[in-house]
Amino acid sequence: MNESMLFTDADNLALAKRCRGDFPLLSRQMHGRPLVYLDNAATSQKPQAVLDALQYYYQQQNANVHRGVYQLSEEATSAYEGARARVQRFINAAGVEEIIFLRGTTEAINLVAQAYARPRLQPGDEVLISAIEHHSNIVPWQIVCRQTGAQLRVIPVLDSGELDQAGFAELLSPRVRLLALTHVSNALGTINPVKEMIAQAHQQGIPVLIDGAQAVPHLRVDVQALDADFYAFSGHKLYGPTGIGALYGKRRLLEDMEPWQGGGEMIIQVSFEHTDYNQLPYKFEAGTPNIADAIGLAAALDYVDNLGLEAIAEQEQQLLDYGTQALQRVPGLRLIGTAQHKAAILSFVMEQAHPHDISTILDRCGVAVRAGHHCAMPLMQRFGIAGTARASLALYNTRDDIDVLVDALHEVVRMFG
Ligand code: PLP
Repeated sequence: MNESMLFTDADNLALAKRCRGDFPLLSRQMHGRPLVYLDNAATSQKPQAVLDALQYYYQQQNANVHRGVYQLSEEATSAYEGARARVQRFINAAGVEEIIFLRGTTEAINLVAQAYARPRLQPGDEVLISAIEHHSNIVPWQIVCRQTGAQLRVIPVLDSGELDQAGFAELLSPRVRLLALTHVSNALGTINPVKEMIAQAHQQGIPVLIDGAQAVPHLRVDVQALDADFYAFSGHKLYGPTGIGALYGKRRLLEDMEPWQGGGEMIIQVSFEHTDYNQLPYKFEAGTPNIADAIGLAAALDYVDNLGLEAIAEQEQQLLDYGTQALQRVPGLRLIGTAQHKAAILSFVMEQAHPHDISTILDRCGVAVRAGHHCAMPLMQRFGIAGTARASLALYNTRDDIDVLVDALHEVVRMFG
């Protein structure tokens, strides 16, 4: 049976409505109107279960990890390492040592750029990215290319927002030392066929980093099934706290890498003459880690898994269809990004108004959307626009939210049309 047939429209509406009450912030008013939060690609709201986990940690378990031989420190260590195991299960990594806790996607990509790519790149080598990357998956590679004399190459994007697969095949060459690719575009919603692209890169011996920041809240990710070499994501887009994210790396690759930062935790033995580094994953976690937020992230993963990512994805796809049709009926509105496989992101421009004006009017109606270049300036240039207004959906959004958005867009038409 097709998975989508497992969930009826009514079930899915029930899911969003059932969950809304779990997110205290969603009951706020903005400018005297109920908040309609549609900026989930920037960051998602947090369920009470995550807030409770953070509070419990600070009230009952707070101690530094890995070093104490007293009970409280052991409890904190076990909660922190439990969170790592939770992340491992969530993305189906082969081992806990392949999960490195970091601040988020940006820090994870910078780690790979500096600790994996930098010592391996030489003048004439190439790093391949795509035209739809977030600045986080562009600038770290520009920096490492400047440091090493390697060249940055870019897979072109089609008008639909899908990557040009013929262009990709042409760019794969023995000079390419790494492919760094987003799983889902934050600006357009395009879901890249990463499994196939990873396989093509591997045929030429090219390792692949996947930026999963926008994928993990919407898709079931299995790093082993994808055969990704590195996979990066942030907790705060996945209903978890800010300041925590993870880098998955294949054990063999991580073991071959030198540490990125030095300090406590990442060592076994230090003298002034010589230091022995700690084993994985601690080798890449210098200093006191973000213990509380790792535990908060684990609570977010429990929350999402209890609802079922498949049910969440199904509901979001239905809302995306509903929203796409509704937005297309707004006079003067043009959707940017019409890929066949899309996550629940609606990026658009309007003839009547600049994206910032759109978002200002929407805000007065209680609707929070993002306006601007979405940290993807080269992509905006490719589409010949300065920016878009972007409504990005999450598990708690309903058709009512889309209806309020559309009414507010008609207000924009009335004011600027
Ligand atoms: N990559 C993509 C596709 C994103 O959407 C974002 C954030 O918007 C990032 C990377 C960077 O994530 P963070 O700021 O959490 O490090």
